[in-house]
Amino acid sequence: MPTIQTEETTGQTEETTGGKKLPSHAKVVVIGGGVVGCSILFHLAKFGWKDAVLLERDELTSGSSWHAAGGIHTISSDPNISRLQSYTINLYKEIEELSGQSVGLHQTGGFYAASTKEWYDYLKGERSKARYMGLDQEFISPKELAERHPLIDPDHYHAVLWDAQDGHLDPSGTTYAFAKAAKAHGAQYFTHCGATGMTQRPDGSWDIVTPKGTLNAEHVVNCGGLWAREVGHMAGIQLPVQPMEHHYLITERMDEVVNFGQQLPHGIDFEANVYCRQEGQGMLLGTYEAQATPWKVGGTPWDFGHELLPPDLDRVADRLETAFERLPAMANAGIKDVINGPFTFGPDGNPLIGPVPGMKNYWVAVGVMAGFCQGGGVGLTLAEWMIDGEPSIDVWAMDVARFGEFATPDWGTIKSSENYERRFVMTFPNETLPKGRKQKTTALYDRMIAKGAVMDQGFGLEHVLWFADGPEDAHEVPSFERNRSHDYVAREIKAVREAVGGIEVANFAKHEFKGEGVREYLNHILAGFVPKPGRLALTPMLTPKGKLYGDLTVACLAEDHFMLFGSGAMQEAHRRWFEKDLPPGISYANVSDDWHGIALSGPKSRELLARITRDDVSAEAFKFRDLRQTFVGGVPVIINRISFSGELGYEIYCKPQYLMRLADAIEEAGADLGYRWYGARALLSMRLEKGWGVWTMEYRPDFDAVESGMDVFINWKKEFVGKEATLKAREGGVSQKLVTMTIDVEGIDVAHDEAILKDGEPVGYVSSGGYAHHVGKSMAMGYVAAEFAAPGTKLQVEILGNFYDALVLAGPAYDANGANMRS
Ligand SMILES: Cc1cc2nc3c(=O)[nH]c(=O)nc-3n(C[C@H](O)[C@H](O)[C@H](O)COP(=O)(O)OP(=O)(O)OC[C@H]3O[C@@H](n4cnc5c(N)ncnc54)[C@H](O)[C@@H]3O)c2cc1C
Repeated sequence: MPTIQTEETTGQTEETTGGKKLPSHAKVVVIGGGVVGCSILFHLAKFGWKDAVLLERDELTSGSSWHAAGGIHTISSDPNISRLQSYTINLYKEIEELSGQSVGLHQTGGFYAASTKEWYDYLKGERSKARYMGLDQEFISPKELAERHPLIDPDHYHAVLWDAQDGHLDPSGTTYAFAKAAKAHGAQYFTHCGATGMTQRPDGSWDIVTPKGTLNAEHVVNCGGLWAREVGHMAGIQLPVQPMEHHYLITERMDEVVNFGQQLPHGIDFEANVYCRQEGQGMLLGTYEAQATPWKVGGTPWDFGHELLPPDLDRVADRLETAFERLPAMANAGIKDVINGPFTFGPDGNPLIGPVPGMKNYWVAVGVMAGFCQGGGVGLTLAEWMIDGEPSIDVWAMDVARFGEFATPDWGTIKSSENYERRFVMTFPNETLPKGRKQKTTALYDRMIAKGAVMDQGFGLEHVLWFADGPEDAHEVPSFERNRSHDYVAREIKAVREAVGGIEVANFAKHEFKGEGVREYLNHILAGFVPKPGRLALTPMLTPKGKLYGDLTVACLAEDHFMLFGSGAMQEAHRRWFEKDLPPGISYANVSDDWHGIALSGPKSRELLARITRDDVSAEAFKFRDLRQTFVGGVPVIINRISFSGELGYEIYCKPQYLMRLADAIEEAGADLGYRWYGARALLSMRLEKGWGVWTMEYRPDFDAVESGMDVFINWKKEFVGKEATLKAREGGVSQKLVTMTIDVEGIDVAHDEAILKDGEPVGYVSSGGYAHHVGKSMAMGYVAAEFAAPGTKLQVEILGNFYDALVLAGPAYDANGANMRS
């Protein structure tokens, strides 16, 4: 049974927690004394912000932290989260020593057991990631597993991945260890001192009201856990997180456990959907139900204390039956306790951390559903972000800005429930998740569905992946191998490369800047050229440390009026970036939803466009990288003469209310030219054969402009954010480089995050890839150690446990000098 520690049981008193009197001012106030808040307090103080105060409404651990199962492991769908989980586990010795508080760490090693071919394939992918990340994972046979864990029946399994770092700990002890270690570094925490309200002063600082007085702080961090939503309401924000009920059970003493003579390892059986570990002389076994039970959808009551919820074993009975087949001794064990406790999930299962877009000095670290695996990494990241201005690694997978206005509380509950249910359910690379769909659509949604579109959503907005032969044919078969969209995508690419195709571009982000001095401002924040009126330019945007923070198309509509086009997913992160130091006199707006549109691509796209506009769009009159504000198909538009497909092309943007009319005009005029709609899969394949990277895959803050090759777009003659760091990288050389490769493989392609090897040694990883239909090759892009980036270098890429030859290319596999695009 989980126990609650209090200040009394841990020898803490109000005096020892930093003095009786709440200070009237602090640099930072952290709200919430669960494992996440305490870790943030520790990291802030350790890195030098000692004037940090944590407020806890009850005792520390009073949310979900006290009743966690305490399992710790490194596997995560996102490699950087895995890295931070590994960091978290390695941190426990440090906080134990510093605080003198035991964290009850049992680093028993852990296993992930695969009972189907698909799960074995999945684990091979994880093994590949671990290889290049330097994590200590290896495959062992089911027989070896039974030797390490005698309760397991090995006959159920194909293969087992073993991770020596995994194990379990004491959740309460760990939370207190973070708090006491924070105190040792000079921070303070106050229990029975909840934040009951907050207001922001004109200078951006916060007045936080508590029963012990009001505290003014420059920054506030919401670590409210089960009450994250309510703490958010105090500052007027709605967070799309949702507490979920969750069961685990603890057995009585088991002879099989006691007689083994050493600690049993932690373990996860994905197919049975259970996790287990030793607890005292018995076992602890938990499961994620197929049907989630969201808890307190309307809001978490303030009087919810150290409480558990009534268990309902019927909900988990089917899962337990499978578990008992795999761990037969458990079927005969007596059940000592059944724990049902709530903990908070985010819409995609990952935490929501960072500065909230649209707010000043307001930070969150919420929806952390595996606080004992991730708390340390979340604390590290947030402290770096607050103190240094940017985290040391790309934490996009946890950034609160990956959700926007579309992520309403209702949507959050639906998606968080889906994620709970899928905690141990595999998502294949070609699979899209079904819940919370059609949250945002364009005027062409029904038309695309009628044509057989298979859709996905990004930033809440539906977009086409590929077109089947009509609605009844529009379905995926989840697979690690080349999937059923393959031939359909080939058909779309053929139309674009030989005639003309159209794709919706509503999902590109659009940022509008107006005002005097806007050119000067853009020249400062963008590393590339800022174009003249009527022209476009591609530019990287860098952080002060020289990391990539955007690859943007800049459109100059007038000397004091610019539009920036970029990653749809990054739109709120970019908004946060632009609004941070916006000079007075310049107005900025994220206008992504105000501009929908269609991109035409292909050798016949000019002919099509000429039929539906009165403008002269001849090659001489409308050049590559020109832009026009004009009329197409009878509606007002902005046309950018660029294309991500690598063909002659035009991105035509219109207000959403004109989109249907524009689409009618294009379809009608293109009928005899071989016009075909195409989707994101075709576009991604075509950009691959051009060797162009994509934001979140190739381009992300893990890399700088030199490593990624984006330095070719830099205007060195001016001063810009990140210049000094980029110059240093250019002059001093970089240790890794982005390369494009062909892979000698049949029937299967990379997805992302596979290891790249040279003579059997990992030298990099795949950032993205797939089948390049027009050139007829399997291709990948990835970062490799600089000495292996030269064209012609022979490497290997690991795909599902097999190693395939790969060749580094000298340039684009298609239209190397860009003649088609410029034609
Ligand atoms: C049954 C169960 C099993 C689990 N097993 C594991 C596991 O094996 N491994 C793992 O890594 N994770 C596990 N978890 C998840 C883990 O418990 C959570 O990820 C973690 O506790 C989240 O910590 P937190 O600090 O974000 O939130 P919480 O623990 O909920 O802490 C939030 C704190 O904020 C305080 N607070 C709220 N509002 C205010 C206010 N206005 N003013 C001041 N203080 C406030 C609360 O009192 C509370 O103490 C499990 C959870 C459950 C329920």
